[in-house]
Amino acid sequence: MAQTDEELQDRVCRACNATYQYPVLKSTATRFYCENCMDLPAGVRATFEQFNKRIKALTATVQKLEQRTTPASGK
Ligand SMILES: [Zn+2]
Repeated sequence: MAQTDEELQDRVCRACNATYQYPVLKSTATRFYCENCMDLPAGVRATFEQFNKRIKALTATVQKLEQRTTPASGK
């Protein structure tokens, strides 16, 4: 379907994990980074991205452990 406006998407920033909308007029946000992170120097943003990857991996690990230690039924 042809739309004149680009369709807004909810995106998750690769660096800070924030949810933001893209594309927003006059926003410096890109497909991968939110506006706040685009204000950061590239090196800082890259470091944030590494941290975010680790946090995501650790979160997944914690969730797995929680599922293992929490009984599936009852309390
Ligand atoms: Zn961000």
